[in-house]
Amino acid sequence: MKRIFHNVDLTDRNSFHVNQSAETLVEFSSAEDLIEFFSHSRPKKWYVLGGGNNVLFTRDYDGVILTPCGRGISVVDQTADSLTVRAEAGVEWDELVAWSVGRGLWGLENLSLIPSSVGAAPVQNIGAYGAEAGDTIVCVEYLSADDLSIVRLDAEACRFGYRDSIFKHELKGRAVITAVEFCLSKRERPNLGYGDVVNEVEALGGATLGNIREAICSIRRRKLPDTAVMGNAGSFFKNPVVDAARADALRSEYPDMPTYPAAGEGRVKLAAGWLIDRCGLKGYRDGRVGVHDRQALVLVNLGGATGAEVIELARTVRRRVFDKFGVEIDMEVNVI
Ligand SMILES: Cc1cc2nc3c(=O)[nH]c(=O)nc-3n(C[C@H](O)[C@H](O)[C@H](O)COP(=O)(O)OP(=O)(O)OC[C@H]3O[C@@H](n4cnc5c(N)ncnc54)[C@H](O)[C@@H]3O)c2cc1C
Repeated sequence: MKRIFHNVDLTDRNSFHVNQSAETLVEFSSAEDLIEFFSHSRPKKWYVLGGGNNVLFTRDYDGVILTPCGRGISVVDQTADSLTVRAEAGVEWDELVAWSVGRGLWGLENLSLIPSSVGAAPVQNIGAYGAEAGDTIVCVEYLSADDLSIVRLDAEACRFGYRDSIFKHELKGRAVITAVEFCLSKRERPNLGYGDVVNEVEALGGATLGNIREAICSIRRRKLPDTAVMGNAGSFFKNPVVDAARADALRSEYPDMPTYPAAGEGRVKLAAGWLIDRCGLKGYRDGRVGVHDRQALVLVNLGGATGAEVIELARTVRRRVFDKFGVEIDMEVNVI
């Protein structure tokens, strides 16, 4: 089923709550809906918008916004150890996590409460607390806008990396993800090696699936601002990755600087939030925008801000971090 709307207010369709609009918005449930749409009209510009939790609109969108609304979750295969689950792109991510935890299936619990649609999850390979969507994804189904074919891409071909996948590169602007398949484990697989999770889980009585989900939900609620109260897009910047020599030089100057191993030989990940905090920017405000006072990685709309104001603040933050540490921090958020 597809529905078409014109002159659509996007304020409640982006988590920054910036007040912009779209010329046309099409809600689709399936690849067939999209084929029908693209067969009848070839829009000059189109963009896929899930929940709008990782986008920043800086102007009205003078094209077609495509939004998935298929909400099916089904089991497509199973073995003694695992279950393969297919979720349509419009399913809310946390609904899928709750579904799997409720059925005793392991693999998604550390990703509880990430605000996302299932269709957006592979795009930046959402991750938290030592887990990433790509750890469980078996394949991604998408409609190719090049020739309107339906493609199934296996996990390896998706080239998942840190907040990265093929959908941010070769397939950017060419693929509309319609469904994702996940392989979830029937066997216990607690993954507690990250941050405060282990203590929180112990306090709840041990590493059951339910306790891990509850622990992660409560940590996230404590640490992150609620987008319904204060517009934001979660982490605005990615953690920068530098070579070992650069990391060593910084560590000798700042011995308390946190570092983590990164993919690739001799590569080291730095914590962008720590760098911003050490520039004295946590809680910094500039008019209607600011850096969150508990989480320096999060830029916030204090009320009525435009996308341009957020971008200006992001430039200030990047410049201050570069001036102090000589490290570039890149934006995680998609600017439109
Ligand atoms: C409070 C908060 C906390 C967050 N915490 C985390 C976190 O812990 N870890 C993390 O990784 N991220 C986090 N994020 C970022 C966000 O949750 C993810 O980027 C998420 O995947 C965005 O989902 P969405 O449906 O809102 O996608 P959107 O913001 O609508 O879109 C994001 C990108 O994906 C593309 N896209 C969306 N759907 C499709 C589709 N069906 N087909 C093709 N392309 C598509 C869009 O074009 C856009 O480029 C957080 C965001 C917020 C607001």
